[in-house]
Amino acid sequence: MIVLKSKKELELMRRAGQINAQVLQIIREAVRPGVTTAELNVVAEQAQAKFGVTPVFKGYTFGSKKPPFPTTITACVNEELVHGIPGKRYLQEGDLLSVDCASRYEGYIGDSAFSMVVGSSSPEIDDLLAVTERALYVGIEQCHSGNRVGDVAAAIQRYVEANGFNVVRGYGGHGVGRTMHEEPHVPNHGEPGKGALLRPGMTFAIEPMVLQGDHQVVTLSDQWTVVAKDRMLTAHFEHTVAITDNGPEILTSL
Ligand code: MG
Ligand code: MG
Repeated sequence: MIVLKSKKELELMRRAGQINAQVLQIIREAVRPGVTTAELNVVAEQAQAKFGVTPVFKGYTFGSKKPPFPTTITACVNEELVHGIPGKRYLQEGDLLSVDCASRYEGYIGDSAFSMVVGSSSPEIDDLLAVTERALYVGIEQCHSGNRVGDVAAAIQRYVEANGFNVVRGYGGHGVGRTMHEEPHVPNHGEPGKGALLRPGMTFAIEPMVLQGDHQVVTLSDQWTVVAKDRMLTAHFEHTVAITDNGPEILTSL
């Protein structure tokens, strides 16, 4: 069921989104060669405690088949696309890191993600990061009342493929509110004019997941980490967005 938020609920979503954006900024500032992804998770835990919000990923289960997700953030390096579990891996100069985090404030959730290079970059990584981040805004530009989910999905896919990369299948954005995954699913590929109608009061996470190589992915034996099957680079950017009478409002930008 698609949930339309009241003005009061939107205000709480705004606050949740703002805090999540600040948490991500604090994580970003802690990224450097030699840091482990587990240490970044601790940074996130401390930031959420400081802001008085609670983690959403920790303990999350997708149906009953997976073990509960163990940490506050997901951390993905290079070929790891989404749902990476932070651990003892040391970040190295030139790694491509993606961090996803969600915060719950007064019952409402802000969900956002970024990718960045660790230390100094390369033209190859810069290109993938720029296209993936731009794809997020290309999708958000379609988040107008009267458009459909397929318009968002198709715009993301078209932009990414026109730039020589691929979008993942089977993973994407989602309605978000009191729970992290509400209806509808917002794929990163699709056809214009198809899918649920966008209306004021809907709140979504839009999240292009982009692969440098083929779109196929596999899940590792930890049952969570999704990696590019060809082990080429991947990137992921996400914002929580509200559909308003005046167009899209990004709730998770600083
Ligand atoms: Mg997320
Ligand atoms: Mg999300």
